[in-house]
Amino acid sequence: MEKEYQTLTPEKDPMGAAIAEYQQKGKAGKLRVLSEMFDEDEIPVNYLFRTYEQMPAIEQKALELTKGDTLDVGAGSGCHTLALISKKDDQTSRHTAIDISPLACEAMRAQGLEDVRCVNLMAPNLSQKYDTILLLMNGTGIAGKLERLPLLLNRLRQLLKEGGQVLIDSSDLCYLYEDEDGDTDMEMLEGDYYGEVVYQMRYKNIRGEDFDWLYTDYNTLKTFAENCGFNCEKVMDGEHYEFLARLTERG
Ligand code: SAH
Repeated sequence: MEKEYQTLTPEKDPMGAAIAEYQQKGKAGKLRVLSEMFDEDEIPVNYLFRTYEQMPAIEQKALELTKGDTLDVGAGSGCHTLALISKKDDQTSRHTAIDISPLACEAMRAQGLEDVRCVNLMAPNLSQKYDTILLLMNGTGIAGKLERLPLLLNRLRQLLKEGGQVLIDSSDLCYLYEDEDGDTDMEMLEGDYYGEVVYQMRYKNIRGEDFDWLYTDYNTLKTFAENCGFNCEKVMDGEHYEFLARLTERG
């Protein structure tokens, strides 16, 4: 099968292993994130289990705007879908959570989520359509590279019901290229788009494969979204350089 349709195997799924361990034991080790562009970093595993109150404002806003049948893409521990279910008094909507990590999917089921599917968003196995599609914690990341952003956007359009919305966040990495005076280093504008990052994750002795992860500035997302038949609006800026955008199909 083509790489873009695949799911992960537990031997190469550090984040899934960290999520599974935290879900089972209430604690976990260090989830390390490596990339040539940044110093080594760590994702606190408890952050992946954040409650509504612990979420950043752009995520709380996304949950407030969520309505109808929802698809949580790259749901991780399922924190957004869990928050939705506990917050909204809406018995009629269906909430589906998908992730390429079988371990994350197991952890979501263990916390009571009923419609959890271990599938790749890009694989053709989802047939239902949704009123709201959530892609949070840098949702554009799933595109990997800027040239693949249209594939992601077109896939999202296929999965939207009429009148539906995509709520997606990202971050403008321009700050990485600014000097102390706030001037932009011209290196940023050379070569590949500056929001393209290659990451590797490690958890205990589990090493993931390198993966491409895309950050976009708002204008780039808007241009690509409009070219794919969406209206795009910025819902709000976050505290740093991140933002939440809302995409709706152009009528
Ligand atoms: N939304 C969660 C997790 C973000 S991490 C949160 O905010 O906490 C990104 C997640 O996306 C990971 O769990 C990863 O396994 C999943 N993912 C990456 N590519 C995917 C794809 N193509 N389809 C579905 N899930 C994907």
